[in-house]
Amino acid sequence: MRVFCASLATETNTFSPIPTGLDSFRNGIYHPAGTHPDAMSFFSGPLHAAKLRADELGLEVLQGLVAAAQPSGTVTRTAYETLRDQILTDLREAMPIDLVLMGLHGAMTAEGYDDCEADLLGRIRTLVGPDVVIGATLDPHCHLSDEMISAADLLICWKHYPHTDALERAQELVDLCVKTRKRQVVPKPVMIDAKVITVIHTTREPGASMLALLEQIESRPGIVSASLAHGFPWGDVPAMGTKALVYFDAQQAHAEEAARAAADEIVRAVWTHRKSFNPPYLSMDAAYDQALAITEGPVVISDGADNPGGGAGCDATFMLRRLVERRLAPSALGPLYDPGAVTMAFNAGLGATLTLRLGGKISRMSGDPLDAQVTVRGLAREHMMSGMVDGMRMRCGDSAWLEIASGIHVLLTSERLQALHPDLFTGLGCDLDSMRVIVVKSSQHFHAGFAPIASRVLYADAPGTLTLDLRQLDYKKADLQRWPFVETLQAPR
Ligand SMILES: [Zn+2]
Repeated sequence: MRVFCASLATETNTFSPIPTGLDSFRNGIYHPAGTHPDAMSFFSGPLHAAKLRADELGLEVLQGLVAAAQPSGTVTRTAYETLRDQILTDLREAMPIDLVLMGLHGAMTAEGYDDCEADLLGRIRTLVGPDVVIGATLDPHCHLSDEMISAADLLICWKHYPHTDALERAQELVDLCVKTRKRQVVPKPVMIDAKVITVIHTTREPGASMLALLEQIESRPGIVSASLAHGFPWGDVPAMGTKALVYFDAQQAHAEEAARAAADEIVRAVWTHRKSFNPPYLSMDAAYDQALAITEGPVVISDGADNPGGGAGCDATFMLRRLVERRLAPSALGPLYDPGAVTMAFNAGLGATLTLRLGGKISRMSGDPLDAQVTVRGLAREHMMSGMVDGMRMRCGDSAWLEIASGIHVLLTSERLQALHPDLFTGLGCDLDSMRVIVVKSSQHFHAGFAPIASRVLYADAPGTLTLDLRQLDYKKADLQRWPFVETLQAPR
């Protein structure tokens, strides 16, 4: 069986001031046809899984372009069309093929394209015809649309948040698409809109129970796959929202009724728990007060409003400034995206003390820069951080560990990326065990790497691009007939 695999992914925060152009992909994850290294990258799960299964399933794997950009604002038309057309060219050259397996995000928006994935999958379908099986993995923070679903045979969302199951879901995709091509299974979709938009952490209740429910549904007769698309509130597009997607095997009796009942069960559970998926979000001072009240081990505080993984600048100074004003030490904060300050730290050299202006550059959502006298404690060229999947490495660029006041440490990077693993700090020699407080720029992915070293995990509600007060966002296209915009909706049917 000939399998074509490619990826085109970014999560577009339509409210973010940071443009996403061709360089955002070329300097992000970018592997032209046939050049992807052996290690999996975040959105190349289907390619990686197909290679792992190649001998067992008799697959000949052909790699098209794999391109992914750090989440930012709307993708330029040129960037989207160039990358899309490259994938279509790669596919044309690989034909004839049996399967097309894509690693997509599902919330990519470009100038003139509210739904890039529907456009891309639709063009792939036109090119390969109705008999070739098209499957894709999606990030659960996707805008699941009818058009995407109808263009593909099978879409599978990652189930966990943090997204630690990217490879598992990709392996399911490979196995199920091979079975579909052999007509051993005929997947058909049922999608139900929960009439909610929410963020669901699966590391604690009730999000953990949603995970268990999806897995239980997949064990039922006639069910092929069950996904919960959480949605992405910071993408202003018509398909935004939390939705259930269940595939049934059309060859099995009563499977469609079972899938409809299962999707209904998922959206009812979402509706029931809609007000309790979020953790308690604390004001900056309340988060620091709680951290100070805990005596043992480091307390890890999430600054999700400045999470670059959701399109924020990663250079907001609100949490940092408060840390300094309160002289809260020993403490560490990172990553703070500031390539200019990194360059100055390198020029000053290890051990040097200098005056630096830190952060506050990307937009007014970053706050004012912070002026401080700093000591350079560590420097690393092309620093790398571990990712959420074994073997995955993330490029931080040249990075600097600074002590900006007595016992207050900041980790500067010259790439914009979120905190996923403590080796972001420890890789430069910044020991975290002795810290009272560690502030991370990440909404939830940090949890996989940082929870094991934390005595407590707290979530702060600082100002920033990913504000939690969705009513502050100037939506134009999203369907807001959903909770929390409408409080009195009937539970969806
Ligand atoms: Zn996500």
